[in-house]
Amino acid sequence: MTAAIELRSVRRAFGATVAVDDVSFAIEQGEFFSMLGPSGSGKTTCLRVIAGFEQPDSGAVFLEGLDVSGTPPYGRDVNTVFQDYALFPHMSVLDNVTYGLRVRRVPAAECRRRADEMLALVKLADMGARRPAQLSGGQKQRVALARALINQPKVLLLDEPLGALDLKLREEMQLELRLLQRRLGITFVYVTHDQGEALSMSDRVAVFNRGRIEQLDAPEALYARPRTAFAARFVGGANVIEGRYAVRGENIEIADPAAPAPAGTVRREGTIVDTQYQGAVRRWQVRTDDGELITATRPDRADTSQAREPGARVALRWAHTHMIELAAD
Ligand code: ADP
Ligand code: MG
Repeated sequence: MTAAIELRSVRRAFGATVAVDDVSFAIEQGEFFSMLGPSGSGKTTCLRVIAGFEQPDSGAVFLEGLDVSGTPPYGRDVNTVFQDYALFPHMSVLDNVTYGLRVRRVPAAECRRRADEMLALVKLADMGARRPAQLSGGQKQRVALARALINQPKVLLLDEPLGALDLKLREEMQLELRLLQRRLGITFVYVTHDQGEALSMSDRVAVFNRGRIEQLDAPEALYARPRTAFAARFVGGANVIEGRYAVRGENIEIADPAAPAPAGTVRREGTIVDTQYQGAVRRWQVRTDDGELITATRPDRADTSQAREPGARVALRWAHTHMIELAAD
């Protein structure tokens, strides 16, 4: 099947800053594809290259197999939802949603019919007459979504669309977006700096660092087999041991220094420097005698939380099989 989107060796620099540095990937039709990375890693620039708001300095962009590198944004069958919603404040919700259709001179009755359908889809059926200022953040985001979806794009580009929402609403919207995407079968390209969001929503995740893709994988593979120290730390905050191995905190046991280590385990002695209660789990930060800071994450049961305070001597141990060998960054 032809890829919905393909980037081939795309590079985009702003002066001395190389925002996107030789990036290549292909996104399948109907895929939920996330671009994950810290601020400044090139996600937005990459998205804008797909949308046509930015021109690559070199490389090419294909939509359904066609080279669109020279095609302006309005000539591409993609729509973008921005973090700040970019709604027209003086227009009603209904007029915001139908804007794209009215520009294309779609008859009023059809505009109305499709807008009602979209507003029902995003659960804003009774809100058509309101102004954006009369809506909550989550409602504004859904209007922005309806306004993009009404054009029936094959591809929807979303740039940190939930960034302005509080945690509970963000989690609700994550689920709604995912369900909507599945139902409509549209290809989503989703930009986020939130690794939990990327893991929970995506079919595949591209981890960006300094304008390059460090790893591109399904969420489970990304978590279980990070390829680089950066990917290991950025996704799920793994420990990086000796710069060459990753170990997840939940796979590290905290034991008495006098206890013998079972066969097949790696063992480090050290001193607890900090503990943080996090509800379901407690995080233990231990400075090992060879100078590494290692975080163990254990279920917060009395047996681990009572006896061990900062300053206590402990042994950390984990099974050899939990060590993930990393490639050089
Ligand atoms: P992200 O979305 O991952 O935060 P961006 O793609 O926005 O990253 O930015 C990548 C890099 O390119 C950053 O260093 C940013 O400052 C720079 N950059 C992005 N857009 C511009 C621009 N229009 N002019 C100058 N520098 C830019
Ligand atoms: Mg950005």
